Amino acid sequence: MKEASKKQLSTRVIAKPFAAPDAHGAIGVPIYRNAAFEFDSSQSISDAFQNIGPQKHIYTRISNPTVRHLEDLIQAASGATHVQVMASGMAAISNTFFNIACSGTNIVTSSHLFGNTYSFFSQVLTNFGVETRFVNTNHLHEIENAIDENTIAFFCEIITNPQMEVTNLIDIKPLLLKKHVPLIVDTTLIPWCGFQAKRFGVDIEVVSTTKYVSGGATSLGGAILDYATFDWSEHKALQSFCSDSLHVTPFTLRLKQEIARNLGACLSPDNAYMQTLGMETLETRYQKMSESAYKVATYLEKNPRVRQVNYSQLDSSSYKKISDTLFVGHPGAMLTFELENEKQCFELMNHLQIIRRATNLFDNKTLIIHPYSTIYGTFDNKTKTKMGVLSNVLRLSVGLESAEDIISDLEQAISRI
Ligand SMILES: *Cc1c(COP(=O)(O)O)cnc(C)c1O
Repeated sequence: MKEASKKQLSTRVIAKPFAAPDAHGAIGVPIYRNAAFEFDSSQSISDAFQNIGPQKHIYTRISNPTVRHLEDLIQAASGATHVQVMASGMAAISNTFFNIACSGTNIVTSSHLFGNTYSFFSQVLTNFGVETRFVNTNHLHEIENAIDENTIAFFCEIITNPQMEVTNLIDIKPLLLKKHVPLIVDTTLIPWCGFQAKRFGVDIEVVSTTKYVSGGATSLGGAILDYATFDWSEHKALQSFCSDSLHVTPFTLRLKQEIARNLGACLSPDNAYMQTLGMETLETRYQKMSESAYKVATYLEKNPRVRQVNYSQLDSSSYKKISDTLFVGHPGAMLTFELENEKQCFELMNHLQIIRRATNLFDNKTLIIHPYSTIYGTFDNKTKTKMGVLSNVLRLSVGLESAEDIISDLEQAISRI
């Protein structure tokens, strides 16, 4: 099993060569923007379809050289054993669960989830006979009571969006080992230089590469990372994929040979290309953004008009201890803060001059949104309460402008509410 090497993430990514030398010696990865690949004989195309001999690209929905290069870079950054990139973060999440779920099984997770993930579990999977058990993951006994012999996975977000809770993997992992349940974690809110998933027992990691990876909101994408740490041999959906081959896990074998190509949510070569560029600058961008996020959080906490700031590095955060244990450096570039009420949130947003009103995360631009009236706007009030989404909270994703300019913009806007 590969460990991420000791070199810094930027070095590992930038040093990673393209799998096959380019005919012209291009220094960056070429964009193979085509659907199909040609073979020189009927035998060689037949072999390729049957996985005989060296692996060749056949059709871009199945694999593509530019897309493969992005997977190689993510592997170099994370130390994962296998990586499958997808068209979006939601494609990564849905493909992961279509890969392991079958009717009659259940998934244990938190009710504090990204909105579409919550509705994927509570609406889409339910219709296929897969139950999702929502628990408060801060209470270990709730997780323990929810797990039974039909539980196929425990799923969580490492930092929940937008509640900003840090999931305590140190406490949860031993329970999952005892119950033989895989740990699947959405790590979109912190990149690989800040959180090493394998060290903390993550078996499968899912990421929206739209966020930190894409390099300034250039494109949508997602990734599924398999650390080859879980024994799937008793897993109902994967039993027929347990081969003697040591090269690939049953999880990745089924994902690549059946699920990803049947569902067809493949990443386009153009998006893969942009994200290979994003990978090269990821660590540098992240250092600046997360440093600024800490400065902004510290500033907001001192502003008397702000009732509370949620950022796990602050001494006031109840997640500070676990955050310091799990994360290297600052805990991400996103924070939330509370004002008196929704009206104040709307006013503050309207007075901003530099910070943009938009729903994305980890763009180069600082972005603000009022989750209650937007992302969760169509959820009923009861669901919003259950999900911990409050009407007096603003979510801020800190970008690459100077921290001082971001703080001044917030200061002038707050002074006018
Ligand atoms: C954005 C996001 C997703 C979904 O990613 P898309 O690329 O928009 O499909 C999933 N999980 C979290 C935590 C996110 O922030």
